[in-house]
Amino acid sequence: MNPTQNRIDLEAIRKQFPILSREVNGKPLVYLDNGATTQKPWRVIQAINQYYTHQNANIHRGVHRLSQDGTELYEASRRKVQSFLNAASPNEVIFTKGTTDSINLVASSFSKKYISPGDSVLISAMEHHSNIVPWQMICEEKQARLQVIPMDGNGDLLYNEYLKLLHENPKIVCITQVSNSLGTVNPVKEMVAAAHQLGIPVLVDGAQAIQHQKVDVQDLDADFYVFSGHKMYGPTGVGILYGKEKWLESMPPYQGGGDMIKTVSFQKTEYNELPFKFEAGTPNIEASICLNEALCFIEEIGIDAISSHEEGLLSHGLNRLKEIEGIQFVGNSKSQSSLISFNLAGIHPYDVGVILDKMGIAVRTGHHCAQPVMDFFQIPGTVRASFSVYNTFDEIDQMVAGIIKAQKMLS
Ligand code: PMP
Repeated sequence: MNPTQNRIDLEAIRKQFPILSREVNGKPLVYLDNGATTQKPWRVIQAINQYYTHQNANIHRGVHRLSQDGTELYEASRRKVQSFLNAASPNEVIFTKGTTDSINLVASSFSKKYISPGDSVLISAMEHHSNIVPWQMICEEKQARLQVIPMDGNGDLLYNEYLKLLHENPKIVCITQVSNSLGTVNPVKEMVAAAHQLGIPVLVDGAQAIQHQKVDVQDLDADFYVFSGHKMYGPTGVGILYGKEKWLESMPPYQGGGDMIKTVSFQKTEYNELPFKFEAGTPNIEASICLNEALCFIEEIGIDAISSHEEGLLSHGLNRLKEIEGIQFVGNSKSQSSLISFNLAGIHPYDVGVILDKMGIAVRTGHHCAQPVMDFFQIPGTVRASFSVYNTFDEIDQMVAGIIKAQKMLS
């Protein structure tokens, strides 16, 4: 029995996701790959349809009705993101393509102004490649050093090592709030406060956090906060860079082109004000507009109710998986969010994924774009089950039964 099921109307929620009623390999779909992307509710799907049926036009440019309507919806979505995050101003909300794009924007623009040869950038041992590689590229370009906060065998960052590394005065700290490969929830609020005591700005990668827990950027006090729409029931192709206005004001544009300018001549270009300074060219208009619907979906259920349901799924998942002989959890933090990474002794994770797929069960297998994490644990990859508001305890039980079957077939 699911004790959290009472707090949300799970059946009504599931009905909002058309894909959940399809079959895969002749079996009802059990979708447990939400860390990679979540499914979309009708309201998001319909909003995309509505946009192309009724509003499609380029924004910020036209005096005609369609363009004005599109612009209003786009800016309304920005204000929705602002209130969802409790950002101080819509100028602090930049539409990007996703988390990766947001991080690349900050890495490129921030470094132009603030990183010089001999400086360093501090990241953590459990970052997704998208919070490693852009910084590595910048460090190479600027002859700066990339430093890494180490972690222990449970997948917890070594906090004292972090404090020591801060004293080496990095120009920026870039850390994930929740690890996509281990599920560890980092104490980002304390980490931001510690960095700020030394005047060091912090970028928080919220790609695996924002859909599971309340995020208030003013309370968190991060200088930059980034995430993707598609991991929070929204469309692909849109993400957010939240940045404190003082940083965004001082940083140069990332890309040049239409919309990010006030005036252009062959001698000189005057850049547009925030947030447009960082939104060159035609953005992903429909995805940006429809992100609003995804946020409405979350707000209607309530992020606290979502968290508590997902905590129930996590603890049920951990308890059930512990029953399997030879299971090895990868990441054993006491502070864990809604995903479980594991391996079965002597079995390659890929083989488990393939057999589960035959039963209609979707999990992720591989390195999860976190190869340094896999290197640390000396494993090729893991099986990862990641949960979302529409998952049920029964689906977890089906996954466990499927894993036991796979284990028998493969041993
Ligand atoms: N950071 C983390 C923690 C992630 O989980 C992901 C997606 N797996 C990303 C960054 C990159 O997100 P996207 O591919 O949407 O840009």
